[in-house]
Amino acid sequence: MTDEIRKRMFSEMKHKDIFDAARNAAYRYADQSLERNVFPTPQAIDNLSRFDEPLPDESGDALDILQQLDTHGSPATVAQIGGRYFGLVNGGIIPASLAVRWLTDFWDQNTPLYLTSPVASRLEEVTEAWLRDLLGLPDGAIAGYVSGSSMSIFCGLAAARHRSFTRLGWDINRQGFTDAPQLRVVASRQAHGTVSKAIALLGFGIDNVEWVDSDAEGRIKTELVPELDQSTILILQAGNVNSGAFDDFETLCSKARNADAWVHIDGAFGLWAAASERLNHLTQGIGLADSWSFDGHKTLNTPYDSGVIMCRDRDALVNALHASGAYIVYSEHRDGMLHTPEMSRRSRIFELWAALKYLGKSGTDDLVYGLHLRAVQFAQELQQQGFEILNEVVFNQVLVACDCDPVTIATIEKIQRSGECWVGGTQWQERSVIRVSVCSWATTSEDVTRSVEAFVAAREQAQDAHP
Ligand SMILES: *Cc1c(COP(=O)(O)O)cnc(C)c1O
Repeated sequence: MTDEIRKRMFSEMKHKDIFDAARNAAYRYADQSLERNVFPTPQAIDNLSRFDEPLPDESGDALDILQQLDTHGSPATVAQIGGRYFGLVNGGIIPASLAVRWLTDFWDQNTPLYLTSPVASRLEEVTEAWLRDLLGLPDGAIAGYVSGSSMSIFCGLAAARHRSFTRLGWDINRQGFTDAPQLRVVASRQAHGTVSKAIALLGFGIDNVEWVDSDAEGRIKTELVPELDQSTILILQAGNVNSGAFDDFETLCSKARNADAWVHIDGAFGLWAAASERLNHLTQGIGLADSWSFDGHKTLNTPYDSGVIMCRDRDALVNALHASGAYIVYSEHRDGMLHTPEMSRRSRIFELWAALKYLGKSGTDDLVYGLHLRAVQFAQELQQQGFEILNEVVFNQVLVACDCDPVTIATIEKIQRSGECWVGGTQWQERSVIRVSVCSWATTSEDVTRSVEAFVAAREQAQDAHP
């Protein structure tokens, strides 16, 4: 590091012009967020070519860099913090949570150990207890804070693998898979793609899974779940990624308990139904499972990236994720890295803590139930306009179809181009469907009505093209 650059960096820290500039740009962005095109215009996408340049030889000017990103980057964003983005299950951001992120970005905490961040360690513990209480999970269940559900599913299944092998007298960490006893994995054919990914990463093999058919709503068929035993890992789902449907936890978790099998629940966005008194009938019985994965960045509307693994069996999770760590001296406090695969880690706990503290129990209930109400409204208004609704809208997901697949597909494309709102498509029972996911607090009933108008206009254009 030359003295020249160091001097400039000290000056940037001291004078804060670049941070003021970033703040001003962010405020401009926020002010436009409700009215901007939901997906960037073709022009904005074209302008991304401005970023195609070789890595500079010389150090740049911080303000110029920021301005380039604001000028050509901001217009090419997807308006996720507005009220009319209904793709994936993305969620918006709770302002208090975002503000906390800004402050804590300056802290730049690393969170593997109590000794690297006492405040992160404490808030991880506090939040763990809040989550148990809010979601009705058992006393003693521990939480690990990871990047998202892809990672938390992986952690849950790693814990399951560790405990199941241990019961069979096998140390998977040391002995690996060669000559290992056979474990069984049972999952629904409707399991999320990231469940298959975790199964593959953990060496179970996707073809070895006992896949179980699901019913018309996308729930695992309870009566088709095979006999379970202590070598079995059963994977259930709270919130089907298309239909939003919930498996029958009460029946299946009891069955698994009796057989000493492990149950993992993928509740990426749906587990939050447990935090709503008006929706927690959907999650009855989840407390009987062994591990639960869910996101802060979807239903709860924290900023990215925020995923949580919770596990009833502390030893299973910790031993699964820390095969060797003897060189690290742990404290008597909470050392976050014991609960996650990573060592160095962003302090995402602050945003999650702030979101929960800001909303409280009743605010979380209102947020979750509000998403459901908007989804129901969406379904009703679309139906009135002659669209077909293919799922029971039990949570926040609506599956919509036009008269035939080509019109549905063309309608999706025209909605996406309109900039009015954004929805994706999927296959559902061998049909092309429009998939609506209501997942931002910022979605108002006016947004829903306005989006339905965009659906109607898009379908008209699509029908003209497919008479
Ligand atoms: C989104 C989602 C995942 C993956 O979560 P990420 O946070 O994107 O890693 C897994 N399961 C379900 C049901 C999901 O909706």
